[in-house]
Amino acid sequence: MKTFDEVFPIGLEFHGHRCPAMPMGIKAGLAAMERLGVEHSADKELSVISETGKGHAAGCFLDGIMTATGCTYGKSNIEKLYYNKMAFTLIDNKTGKSVRVSLKPDFFEKALGSPFVQQRKAGVPPQDIDPEIANPLIEKVIGLKDEMFLDIGEVKTIELKKKNGVFETKRCDFCGEVTFVNKLRLTPDGKTACIPCSGYVE
Ligand SMILES: [Zn+2]
Ligand SMILES: [Zn+2]
Repeated sequence: MKTFDEVFPIGLEFHGHRCPAMPMGIKAGLAAMERLGVEHSADKELSVISETGKGHAAGCFLDGIMTATGCTYGKSNIEKLYYNKMAFTLIDNKTGKSVRVSLKPDFFEKALGSPFVQQRKAGVPPQDIDPEIANPLIEKVIGLKDEMFLDIGEVKTIELKKKNGVFETKRCDFCGEVTFVNKLRLTPDGKTACIPCSGYVE
């Protein structure tokens, strides 16, 4: 397993700005991986079910989790539940073992009172926040022991549903774009349509 110091630069590059929540996510992801005894997911060996949502503070947490675990939207081994909670479950798809990790309530409430979050509340983009504000907070996160800010649950075994990806494609008869067949629709006059061309609303 890679160390925090190895993963952090990759996370920064991927995430795009320096903030405290992204490294929190890296540490939480690594803690979950350590608990399950698993490595970074080269393909779909691991899955993440995240309870974060969108349009709330500290969503950057999930980019840290993605960087650490290798569970990404491209590989479709990550899912968001939009509970707007700072928690996620990591699943080992080989064994069915899973662990839920969340931020400790006291820690997170305190973090929301930080000068970084105050700046964000006032509308300052994260990349424009003075490094003199951001850096000490990031250093503090880096220095935290896992048990000081994470609740790491018991390892539980869950039942796995094995799904193989779809490889077959057809061109949409309307826009001509290549579409995987499990999302193509048949129109009443027998033409093949992608979702946008079919007018179908999910
Ligand atoms: Zn961020
Ligand atoms: Zn189309």
